[in-house]
This record gives sequence, structure tokens and C-alpha cells, in this order.
Amino acid sequence: MSKYSTAYQFCPNRNCQHHRQLREGNVNVHDSKKNRFICKECRKTWVGHRGERRYGLRTELTKIERALDLLQAGWSIRKTAELAQVSPSTVLRWKQTLQRSSSY
Ligand SMILES: [Zn+2]
Repeated sequence: MSKYSTAYQFCPNRNCQHHRQLREGNVNVHDSKKNRFICKECRKTWVGHRGERRYGLRTELTKIERALDLLQAGWSIRKTAELAQVSPSTVLRWKQTLQRSSSY
């Protein structure tokens, strides 16, 4: 499995209706070895970990993924922050990034 989840990838095509939208279900893995993703809507492909910089999430994505999984499992912000070794406000920011997408 690729360490880059489609959940944190978005379409970089400005003309696409899914541009910069997370978790809209339009992103597919195009080539898992090269971490390439593809938008089902406009067929644009791009290399993964792009979202990391755009969203200002400097921490490795795997850490964020794990934290968000814990939140969804019902963990508190504080407990999740402790485990991820970040501040609660950082976890809150990750959570808000997740919630900005409508489909999740
Ligand atoms: Zn697109």
C-alpha cells in the first residue's frame, strides 16, 4: 500500500470542479510506485505529497493520517495530540482540514 493516501490528495487542475477539494472521491491512485494520483473528473495526474505543502501541514502525512483515524475512532483532541506528540491546536487544525471537505 502506498504511504500517500488519496484522502490527502486533491486535484491540482484549476479548471476542475474538484480543484483543492479533499475527499470528494474523485482521486484515484494512478501509479502507486511513483506515488502518482489521477483525478477521475478531468484525468489530470500528479505526484503525491503535494497537499502536504499546500495545506501547511509540515508533519509527515502518515502521522496526520494516524491522528485523524484516532479522532474518527472517538479519541479526544488532547489524547490524540499526546500520542502524535504535537500540540492540541495542531490536531484541531488537521481536523478542520478534514471537515472542510463536504463528502466526509
Ligand atoms: Zn480534476
